[in-house]
Amino acid sequence: MLKINGLVSGGIITNYKCSSKCRHCVYASSPSWPNDYMTASTAEEIFSILKRLGCHSVHIGGGEPLLQPKKIFPVLEAAAKNNIDIDYIETNASWYKDESSTKIILRELIKHGVYTLLISIDPYHNEYIPFYKVKGLVSACSKANMRVFPWLMDFWDDLDALDDSKPHSLQEYADLFGEDYLWNLPKRYGLNLRGRALKTYKPMMRMESFESIIKNSLPCNLLSGVYHFHVDLYGNFIPQSCSGLSINLSELVHGADANKYPVFYRLETMGIKGLVEFAVEEYGYKPKSKYAGKCDLCYDIRNYLVLDQKAELSDLQPADHYRFI
Ligand code: SF4
Repeated sequence: MLKINGLVSGGIITNYKCSSKCRHCVYASSPSWPNDYMTASTAEEIFSILKRLGCHSVHIGGGEPLLQPKKIFPVLEAAAKNNIDIDYIETNASWYKDESSTKIILRELIKHGVYTLLISIDPYHNEYIPFYKVKGLVSACSKANMRVFPWLMDFWDDLDALDDSKPHSLQEYADLFGEDYLWNLPKRYGLNLRGRALKTYKPMMRMESFESIIKNSLPCNLLSGVYHFHVDLYGNFIPQSCSGLSINLSELVHGADANKYPVFYRLETMGIKGLVEFAVEEYGYKPKSKYAGKCDLCYDIRNYLVLDQKAELSDLQPADHYRFI
């Protein structure tokens, strides 16, 4: 059985669809995803479970949660009904058009108990979103009494060094600040190298032999991240740091059957070695000689299962994570 007895603080993924396809995105969000959004009834169910598990506040992320601002309000109402506070909503500012229309949305968010926006400020987002939108949103927040949690101020001057009326590629940053700019970004950003971030940085990572990865295999302890878990619009519990893996939250609370979640179970209890054995024995996976670490091997197997074998496994959901990475 896979079971959790308590959760402290985490995030709600209201939608995976996004205006951008950022190269650092752990959740592989992009404009290609279906236009699905968390419904009021799913939100009600999730928040009542979280409350029972001792979680009293969440942040909201995506995708871009404010892509369609009206769709967030039923989710916020469900949170309020269950006495769950909203720590902040993450946003990339792509929806900013002008100050007056933005202030209307901000005031409505405040009425619904949202007092802080985490606004993305980094070169990855700037490949898609011109910096003037970020500046405009920050200014509108200050006028509407919405607090801003800038993520990250450290990049403000970098972005401000380029024309703020249009997006800029990472290569433009490398041209301006030096060729190692892209390589140094993960450390400055505190990036988790999973999802699309792993795909972006894999060519620059040190390769390790398959045997060495297996020799050092340890349980991944996916259920121990009680402070930064996520629950998505489909009711999936997504473990801290490891996207593309999921267990239905309501099943997890009562004890999810390990046979229904073989990938998750093996990673949780045995680590990458257990997943390799499963993929080789059940699906004929053939390991390569080298990988960019255990998480690269893990992704290679999961891609093989979902994309090549078309295996509809309950723990590799949503499958679009693999399609749109
Ligand atoms: S091996 Fe897989 S489950 Fe374990 S930490 Fe890496 S990505 Fe996550």
